[in-house]
Amino acid sequence: MGFLSNLFSKQKCAFCEKEVGALNRKKLHDGNYICKECEKNCSAFIDPSRFDVEFIKEHMEYMKKQDILYKKEFETLDKKQRERYVHEGYYGLEFADDIAMFEVIDPKANKRNYKELFRYDQIKDYEIYSKPNSSTEAGAKKYSEVGIKIIMNCQVGIDSVGMSDVEKKLAHPYVSELNILCARDTDSATDSTWAVEHLNKIFGRASGTLFGAAKEAFTGTGHERQGYKAGADALKALGSMAKAKMTGNEEDAAKAKEKMETAVESGFAYASENRTKYTKIADEVENRVWGE
Ligand SMILES: [Zn+2]
Repeated sequence: MGFLSNLFSKQKCAFCEKEVGALNRKKLHDGNYICKECEKNCSAFIDPSRFDVEFIKEHMEYMKKQDILYKKEFETLDKKQRERYVHEGYYGLEFADDIAMFEVIDPKANKRNYKELFRYDQIKDYEIYSKPNSSTEAGAKKYSEVGIKIIMNCQVGIDSVGMSDVEKKLAHPYVSELNILCARDTDSATDSTWAVEHLNKIFGRASGTLFGAAKEAFTGTGHERQGYKAGADALKALGSMAKAKMTGNEEDAAKAKEKMETAVESGFAYASENRTKYTKIADEVENRVWGE
């Protein structure tokens, strides 16, 4: 009785105020409900049940703006300015290097009311994922699915803990992970390399057609990691320098600071895998749309 009465009991959607049954709603983190129709105003790549009403309202405003950005800056691009990688006609990525943004092609995103773009500089890392085939039938392929997992720097969730203000500003406000299906029922995890090559190109990583080489490129070479650490350490040093009251000759101190900033900048650009460049491009695009 409990289950059935719950199934048929209606609850009010916190956004459109319609009374909806259990099959057409989701419970939010704060106990409120969102109906199926209102969920179409959200990104297909977030789980609304993790958030509360106010957060979702803000998110819907964000999505409205994304839709404008998409229509003004992405849709209007020449075909040659967009590189599209699609599997089965439904899953894939479309890159627009000129605006340093990309679209995720996914059937669930097609059903949403607003289009959205992701910025290159929001990407933290990417890797191949594979799901082993559970079928034991003769001739069954090794993997039921392989694809690319794009890990985003994200302002919400566990990764945001301990993020600096600069990192937060560059992080995606809502999405922490994107999974792009590249092949089904296959023996080869390299079926997913089609879009990986473009990502490698974006971030200046070594191209790898063989899985092993590609894998190394995803995780970054030791040299890359070292470069990143050097940049982070230098930033810390700069911060403590600024904090500490400089004694002695102020002119010398200023010069030292300037030198250090340059070192940090160059080190940071090297370690950022072109992200600083993409930040500039994407910021210009967004300013063009939201500016004035
Ligand atoms: Zn609703």
